[in-house]
Amino acid sequence: MSKRMLGDIAIDVAIEVPVDDGFPPELLVPNHDPALLEANKSLIEPFCRNPVTGGLKLSIHTWIVKTRNQVILIDTCNGNHKERPSFELAHHLNTPYLERLAAAGVRPEDVDIVMCTHLHVDHCGWNTQLKNGKWVPTFPKAKYIFSKQEFDMWNPAEADHVELEINQNVFEDSVLPVVEAGQAEMVHGDHALNDNMLIKLAPGHTRGSIVLEVESKGQHALFAGDTLHSPIQILRPEWSSGFCLDPVQSGQTRRKLMEHCVEKNALLMPAHFPPPHAVRVKRDGDNFTFVPE
Ligand SMILES: [Zn+2]
Repeated sequence: MSKRMLGDIAIDVAIEVPVDDGFPPELLVPNHDPALLEANKSLIEPFCRNPVTGGLKLSIHTWIVKTRNQVILIDTCNGNHKERPSFELAHHLNTPYLERLAAAGVRPEDVDIVMCTHLHVDHCGWNTQLKNGKWVPTFPKAKYIFSKQEFDMWNPAEADHVELEINQNVFEDSVLPVVEAGQAEMVHGDHALNDNMLIKLAPGHTRGSIVLEVESKGQHALFAGDTLHSPIQILRPEWSSGFCLDPVQSGQTRRKLMEHCVEKNALLMPAHFPPPHAVRVKRDGDNFTFVPE
C-alpha cells in the first residue's frame, strides 16, 4: 500500500497480482526499439524491466480514490473463482483482494463509484463475486461507470461486437450482473464525475476506453487505464501494446495524454505500472521521459 495525497484527495492502491518477472517486451510492446531501451537502461531497470529476466514488470491493481464524501475504485482486476480457460493468469483465482481493500480502509459497502476504464478481463473481475452460485455485484451500494462505446463493443447483441479469446465469459459474469442489478451507469464520451473529476474518451486500446482526469488544489493526476502498459511507451508514444485493438489510434491517444500530463504536471497513474505505480511525465525533445513517483 502506498497512500498519497493529491490536494484534498487521498489515493491508495490495492494490488491483486504483481507480475515482477515481467512480460516479454516483444509481446507486450512489439514495436519497441531495443537500442533505445538500452540507452535508457538506468531509467527502466530495475523499475519497470526485470534485470534478470529482461521482462517488462507489471502489476494488476485497483486505484482507490477517496474524496471528502466519496470512495471511488478505478478498475477491479481479475476477480476470484472466474472461469477463464483461455487466460491462465486469471483462471480460478483466489486472492485476498477484499482483505487488501480492507487494509486500505475500504469495505465493499463503503464504495460509492466503481469505474472500469475498459472491459478487458483484468479490469472488471471484482465487479462481481460468486454468492450462492450467482454472480452478484461485489459493491452493493456503488454506481458502476461503464463507457457506452465499450459496453456495446463487448455486447453479443450488437452486430459489430468484438470477440477475444482471453475475454471469454467476462461480459456475462462481470458486466451483465451489474446491469441487471440496476447499478450500471453508461457514459458517452466526456463526463464530469464530480467537481474535481472528468472522464474522457481515450480510444485505441479498445474502442471505448476511458481515462479519468483529477484535480485538487491545483494538483493534477491522470488515471490512464491501459492507454499504456509499460513506462517504456512514454519514451515513444507510438509504441502500442500487443493488446491494442487499433495500434495507430492508440499511439495518437497516448501522445495526446502525454502532452496533457506535461502541460498540467499531472501524475500519470495507469492500471499496470509496477511499484510505485505512478510517474511524472517530462518532455524530452519531440518525445517524453519520466520520473517514477
Ligand atoms: Zn489491463
